[in-house]
Amino acid sequence: CGIVGYIGNREAYPILIKGLHRLEYRGYDSAGIALIHEGNLKVYKAKGKVSELEHYAEQKDVAGTVGIAHTRWATHGEPTQHNAHPHYSQSEELAIIHNGIIENYGLLKEGLVREGYTFQSETDTEVLIQLIEFMKRSNGTDLSTAVQLALTQVVGAYAIAVLDRNNPDQIVAARKGSPLVVGIGEDEYFLGSDATPIIEFTNRVTYIGDEEIVTIRRGEALKIRTITNIEKTPRIQKLEMTLSQLEK
Ligand code: GLU
Repeated sequence: CGIVGYIGNREAYPILIKGLHRLEYRGYDSAGIALIHEGNLKVYKAKGKVSELEHYAEQKDVAGTVGIAHTRWATHGEPTQHNAHPHYSQSEELAIIHNGIIENYGLLKEGLVREGYTFQSETDTEVLIQLIEFMKRSNGTDLSTAVQLALTQVVGAYAIAVLDRNNPDQIVAARKGSPLVVGIGEDEYFLGSDATPIIEFTNRVTYIGDEEIVTIRRGEALKIRTITNIEKTPRIQKLEMTLSQLEK
């Protein structure tokens, strides 16, 4: 189970796939990727190895300079293509990847069904993206505030990353329990469950704290706030690790 993200000036797809390969050691049963390009939010996913995802995605359009990618270790819902991440929100404007477990997903789902939401998968994760969309619409907020409001309702452990089709210049990510690292390059940012997908590109990283949300915007400084909406100053560290050490 792992998370990778990229936003910058380069094509995201090769960086994301390489990152997924670097996270394979963590174990997984399916993999998927989401990219935004020319106003489209594209989601490709496959059961099995990252190489299966590559075979599938490479017959499609993989253009885009912002994207998120995931390896899943199923906890809720069989390891199938439709349960693989990323998951769309109902409007298909948002997409999420998630490692961890949303423990109160049943209760949250009941509330969302009453609001007219329908579900395409059996996962706890899809409930979270619908809740984020619900918060965004009902409160008229930006994505990062919607994520913050949704996470105040959630019981469980998670590392998540969310894309918004209408805002191709940002990734919103958050964590509680599961780890999450942001790599800071020149005019580009990387996201990883750990530093292994990042270290090849930059050794400047910031470890996202428990119950923190990071808004990663193209060409802007990182913004971090807690789930209780307290702003934090990102603490950037320099990793000493080199890629050759990682490959041992
Ligand atoms: N609970 C989520 C699912 O089953 C995420 C599993 C994971 O950590 O990969 O889809």
